[in-house]
Amino acid sequence: MLVDYHVHGLGHQTRQHTLAELTPFVVQGLQQGLSEIGFAEHDAYIEDLDFSNFQHLQRQFPKIRIKIGLEVDFWPEQEKRYRQLREIYSWDYLIGSVHYLGDWGFDHPDYTERYREWDIDALYRTYYGVLTQMIQSQSFDLVGHLDLIKIFGYRPHSSGLKLAGPTLAAIREAGMTVEINTAGWYKPVEEVYPAPDLLEACFQMGIPITFSSDAHRSEDTGRDIIRARELAWKVGYRQVATYVQRKRIMQPL
Ligand SMILES: [Zn+2]
Ligand SMILES: [Zn+2]
Repeated sequence: MLVDYHVHGLGHQTRQHTLAELTPFVVQGLQQGLSEIGFAEHDAYIEDLDFSNFQHLQRQFPKIRIKIGLEVDFWPEQEKRYRQLREIYSWDYLIGSVHYLGDWGFDHPDYTERYREWDIDALYRTYYGVLTQMIQSQSFDLVGHLDLIKIFGYRPHSSGLKLAGPTLAAIREAGMTVEINTAGWYKPVEEVYPAPDLLEACFQMGIPITFSSDAHRSEDTGRDIIRARELAWKVGYRQVATYVQRKRIMQPL
């Protein structure tokens, strides 16, 4: 079953949350053969959401299931905010993502010079430390782009698998799902999130997966989900995690 659980209808506030803007995402999802499309806007734009659009879209497109998620930027010590976000709507799922280390938006192309200030192994340890805090906050269902810290191709000397080890253990412990996020193939690193060896470790540990394009434009909806599914199959996965009101439902891959 093909799903895309990480679509940004608003982009980076580049569009309005209207039926006219959201419809092309759903149309593209249908063309890509998706059974489910999950809108997961960045939580910073939550005020812009018009939830009535989702019911209209579902009525208009009965052949695809519309899911309503949210991608939350994790900063340590904001548990209260996460509790509030959870209660704003009956979300199908919440994605926990780390895009910032302190004030540094490390995945933004304008701030890459700051990589040079770091020992890269220490940087990976710091990133995975914050990601583990996100997981242990028990506030989210999906881990967004697990190894995002590799985005610009800065690689650690130590094994990436070893650096991520404690985080994977925390994911299993928390019962979360990892998204296979195909956007990585289109970033400077040119590698899916998570890397195939990390995905293999997830499988060995019994961590479920789902699929994401992280589309910020309608034409990228469902992009490479088939390729991601082939990778998951090769690794050994036979099921994909789907969500209804934060309840995980495993479906055949
Ligand atoms: Zn993200
Ligand atoms: Zn995203």
